Amino acid sequence: MSAPRDVSPEDSTVKLAQALVRVASVTPLDAKDLPTAQDSLDLAAAAAVKTGAKVTQLDFSGGHAKWDYAVNNIFLEWSFGTAEKHICYMGHLDVVPPGDQKKWTEDPYSGKIEDGYLYGRGVTDMKGSVAAFISAVEEQLGDLKNQNVKISMILTTDEEWAAVNGSKKVLEWMQARGEKVDAFIVGEPSSQDDLGSHIKIGRRGSLVGTLTASGVQGHAAYQELFENPNRALALASAILNSHKFTDGNANFPNTNFETVALKSGDFNASAIIPGEAQMLWNIRFTPHQTPDSLEKFVKDALANPPEWAKQHPDFHLLKNITVKANKDTASVPYYSEPGDLASSAQNAVKTVLGRDAKLDGSGGTTDGRFAAQIYPNAEIIELGLPERGGIGDSGKGADYLSKGGMHQVDERASVRDLANLRKIFGETVKNYGKEKPPAAADKKNAKPNASSHKPS
Ligand SMILES: [Zn+2]
Repeated sequence: MSAPRDVSPEDSTVKLAQALVRVASVTPLDAKDLPTAQDSLDLAAAAAVKTGAKVTQLDFSGGHAKWDYAVNNIFLEWSFGTAEKHICYMGHLDVVPPGDQKKWTEDPYSGKIEDGYLYGRGVTDMKGSVAAFISAVEEQLGDLKNQNVKISMILTTDEEWAAVNGSKKVLEWMQARGEKVDAFIVGEPSSQDDLGSHIKIGRRGSLVGTLTASGVQGHAAYQELFENPNRALALASAILNSHKFTDGNANFPNTNFETVALKSGDFNASAIIPGEAQMLWNIRFTPHQTPDSLEKFVKDALANPPEWAKQHPDFHLLKNITVKANKDTASVPYYSEPGDLASSAQNAVKTVLGRDAKLDGSGGTTDGRFAAQIYPNAEIIELGLPERGGIGDSGKGADYLSKGGMHQVDERASVRDLANLRKIFGETVKNYGKEKPPAAADKKNAKPNASSHKPS
């Protein structure tokens, strides 16, 4: 069933993805960039309207004290039969800037097709995915007309920056409108090299903070007279990094503490013990944790460390460390217990590619977290193009790590992946629509709340 290697440029998904890539819709931080963002939405809307979609334009601003720029969004909806089940696709048409344009082989918005790849900023993240979903609905229209399902799409232009006037506001609008949603497909890239190798069912949260060790500056030859903050910080780093959390599960990584930056001393002054040392840390965490519980974990680990650290000669210096957690900027995790949607998508991947898709929760945060907050009973999966542009298709070249992937120069998507993603979306929606809707009572158990239902 999978598409041939050299998919035609006239393929419905390739054509729409190419048209979208040719619009330079960089996240509009300035009012002058708004019309370009709107152009990308209009293009997608026009393609959807041809298949019978209803379009609602939703413009929001003022979501944040600092990031109060206006953002344009659209909501697309198709209703079939009694529209008993509602499945909503979440996507964005804004892109990150091209970076150094001179490093691109072609214009970043060329939409050039060469050697089985479509090139252009945003094709993988995530215009190709949006194109695949719209053309999937078109391809499945005949079948969908016999089903009782509602399909909708949230398309924002605010994902690559603050994400304060985009998906979150649209979801709140949907909720206020009384829209019931059973399932969300977030169309972000979800696998590394091979289409469909992974389907995300959650993302860890992220908390950043610092440790500041104060000491007494002095001559390095008389170390016994002073307190070296580097010793305190080195021990603290060893204690915190060696703590193994066990709060994940087979599909979801454990919470993890990582030392990400260290600052202290002077590389041009070798005889001085510094007066202060600082560490920047980042904890990626499961829904078992909260910013408060993690702040407490860091403080407790230093106040009452494991026995080996208590025996360490620098143990007494740990008291010189101050902990700060940036709780106000933490991003929340979500975990969605795999249900009918995840199995529909896994079956679709198997049918189209003969591949077993692994469910996992690795990677950075996405707009999926807003769906989990606003629709806690809905099932959520993330499924999209491979992060590295489908390089698995042609073997890894010498430039594998330096170009071609999302947010990189020469961003590209394999045209075969574009056509196959359309088939996977189509099969997923079809499979899911045919699943018997869960009874109201079962539904509560089957569809966990992101905050109360946790991986074990
Ligand atoms: Zn994205």
